[in-house]
Amino acid sequence: MTFYETVTAAIRDFATHGFDSADRLTKWQELLRKSAEQAGASSSRMEAMLNDALKAIYRRLVERGGILQRHPGVQRWTLAKFAPRLRAELDRRIMASSQLIRLNRQQAIEQTIRRFSGWASSVPAGGSKTTDKGEVKEDVRKALASLPFVERRVLIDQGHKFTASLNNILAVDGGAIAARWFSHWRQVNYDYRPDHKERDGQVYLVRNNWAQTRGLIKVGPAGYTDQITQPGEEVFCRCSYTYIYNLRDMPDEMLTAKGREELERVRVA
Ligand SMILES: [Zn+2]
Repeated sequence: MTFYETVTAAIRDFATHGFDSADRLTKWQELLRKSAEQAGASSSRMEAMLNDALKAIYRRLVERGGILQRHPGVQRWTLAKFAPRLRAELDRRIMASSQLIRLNRQQAIEQTIRRFSGWASSVPAGGSKTTDKGEVKEDVRKALASLPFVERRVLIDQGHKFTASLNNILAVDGGAIAARWFSHWRQVNYDYRPDHKERDGQVYLVRNNWAQTRGLIKVGPAGYTDQITQPGEEVFCRCSYTYIYNLRDMPDEMLTAKGREELERVRVA
């Protein structure tokens, strides 16, 4: 029996007999849960899809070096050096995402049982002729029916978050001194956050980086990276950072006098 058929049978049974015993309710709750869990066989398929998607991101960014585009100045061998840490992040992300998928599914099943029980326990013993079965059915099925949509969102969002955390690990370990925000707000039909559009092109200082410690650069009008949410942190955020590793790539107003001297000295040398 499919989940839909189970819901239909359960509603018909209660419309006929009503809430005449706790046993009747318990029996149907168990059948619904079992049937919803079987319908959830697709949950493992979903987890497999998520694994594949995250691994594909890892291959593109780390194994093929695509991540370096956002880290100008970092060499391939530096990336290779940090690969174990990035690989660990892949495993961590796969675990967290699978858990999220499972939790969402459990939640949808519980919500379905709750909706059904709420309705069923309100039908008087002896049944009800006035119940609009179609409406009840739709209401009970709602949570499970919206699950594929919720899961697709999770898949996309976890991909963005994974990309952002790989970038962050490389930046921290690689010694980035600042980061320039990039927003896709110009893209047609992209539902951007207005405050992320404001961040577009702004340069945020990485707090206590080596160049700041040596007095070569200072914080700019945009502030520090730790004062704002990170790219991909908020749901469906597709913004990204391009990291800055060298004094010469810094905006002039963020260099100190000492920093300008240093830059000049390097240029002459
Ligand atoms: Zn954003």
